[in-house]
Amino acid sequence: MDNWNIQSRAVVCEACSRPFADREAFHTLLFDEHAENLRRMDVCEACWQSQFSDGARERKGFISHWQGVYEAPAPAVDAIQKDTAETLLRKLIEQKDPRYVPAGYILAVMLERKRVLKVKEEVVRDGKRVFIYEQPGTGDIFTITDPALRLDQLETVQRDVAALLEGGLNPPAPQPAGEGPAPVPENQPIVQN
Ligand SMILES: [Zn+2]
Repeated sequence: MDNWNIQSRAVVCEACSRPFADREAFHTLLFDEHAENLRRMDVCEACWQSQFSDGARERKGFISHWQGVYEAPAPAVDAIQKDTAETLLRKLIEQKDPRYVPAGYILAVMLERKRVLKVKEEVVRDGKRVFIYEQPGTGDIFTITDPALRLDQLETVQRDVAALLEGGLNPPAPQPAGEGPAPVPENQPIVQN
């Protein structure tokens, strides 16, 4: 399975496709379909009542459920901000670089302590602890696998996180010399004009 991912809050009900209104109550369901990731589904109150709320949870197939309040996206002006622990975590997850999994985990724990992220669920998948965090402002769900750090690894990772927060995430290193563009193959057919 994937170590981590972010799943955004839907803007429409995923059962009936009706757009959510600002401040509307909705329901988030988590499904474990034995795929790479747990799947998030957001549905309106009416669809929750008619399709999911009754009967055994196992039969409906979801492993977790909670209720939220939809908030219309904030104006784009809020998007311009300097790197914070949260934007750094988002960038790390985007990069999908397994080297940063421990740093991502530490950042998520930091953000939970600062009450930026809230733990919604803790599950075990493939023998690993997986935390489902929600950013209540945006409604994004962060799925973070516990890398099960040993105490002697913790200090190094905490130093890495401090360095990343201080200096930001460096762009990918340039290709080392000798691994540039592929050489032009020999014996190319001569193009006749
Ligand atoms: Zn609906």
